[in-house]
Amino acid sequence: MRCPFCGVQDTRVLDSRLANEGDQVRRRRECNVCKERFTTFEVAELTLPRIVKREGIREHFDESKLRSGMLKALEKRPVNSDAIEDAVYRIKKELMASGEREISTHELGEKVMKELSGLDHVAFVRFASVYRSFQDVSEFTDMIEHLQKK
Ligand SMILES: [Zn+2]
Repeated sequence: MRCPFCGVQDTRVLDSRLANEGDQVRRRRECNVCKERFTTFEVAELTLPRIVKREGIREHFDESKLRSGMLKALEKRPVNSDAIEDAVYRIKKELMASGEREISTHELGEKVMKELSGLDHVAFVRFASVYRSFQDVSEFTDMIEHLQKK
C-alpha cells in the first residue's frame, strides 16, 4: 500500500481490527520511510456491475429486466417459479462476487444461457437465438448438436 504522504510503497500494518459492526476492517499503517501513520478501511464490494450495451451505453443492472427476459424464454415450459428465482439469484450472486464494476450485455447473456441450459433446453435455444449474435448458421447448428449430445 502506497504511503499517502511520501508516495513510497513500503508501508506496514501496525494494527488490524473490525469496524462498523464487522462490515469493515480498519488497518493502522506506518510508512517505513517517512514514518507517517495513516488508516485504511477495507469493505466488501457488493454492488452490482453496470451493464455495457453494444453501443457503449451504460445501464444499471435491472433485476426485473433479467427476470422478464428469462420468463419470456421459459413461457409455457414445465419449469417451476422457485427454480427460476434460484437461477436469478445465482446470476446476481455471481455478479456481486465478481467485484466487476461493469459487465457487457454479452457476458450477462452468457450467464443467463448457462442457467437456462440447466433449466430447460427449449428455453435455452429460444433465448440463445434472440440474444446471441451468431457468427453464422453453422455455429448455431453446432450448439444445438452439442445440446442434443448432452
Ligand atoms: Zn511515507
